[in-house]
Amino acid sequence: MQLRAQEHILSLVAHDAAMLHVAPPRVRFVNTSGGPCYDALFNRIEIDRATLALPEALLHIVVAHEVGHATQRKAMLLDFARTGLCIAALLAIPCFMFATSPDEDLWRVSVPGFGFVLAFIACSKIWRAYGVKRAAAFELDADAKAASICGPESALAALEATAMRGHIDAARLEAMRSRLMSSAQ
Ligand SMILES: [Zn+2]
Repeated sequence: MQLRAQEHILSLVAHDAAMLHVAPPRVRFVNTSGGPCYDALFNRIEIDRATLALPEALLHIVVAHEVGHATQRKAMLLDFARTGLCIAALLAIPCFMFATSPDEDLWRVSVPGFGFVLAFIACSKIWRAYGVKRAAAFELDADAKAASICGPESALAALEATAMRGHIDAARLEAMRSRLMSSAQ
């Protein structure tokens, strides 16, 4: 039963990947219950036990949504790289100040150290806000791709069913409703 359900998911992933013109991501079945997710680093979808047991219609949408994330892989990896570069640049500033400042403890240690802490706090706030915004945009885009495969009506029904269990962003529901409205016109 379990094996057949897993094979079924693999075939859904292959089908959706072909529809979205992307190489099919790998699938990993996990025993946790954190919900399905996509890992850009390994190009891998994780399917938990609860997802495996979802009703067929809902399962289709969930898989299509996760494959939708696979189409964003390049953008996600670029985000990782950009974050890494920013951290490296941030670390370089106090090092540079340390190397070029007058030969006194105040200038060599305290000022660069203090500047670094201030810059780090400011940057981490900006990054966090940016990350939240990017993540929301990726979710909306993956929803749009799921809707393009399964139709906005069943995609909306799936989002509403998931929202009943309390983990869907209101913006995603709203976007799917307006997508359904505009496709109905
Ligand atoms: Zn998602």
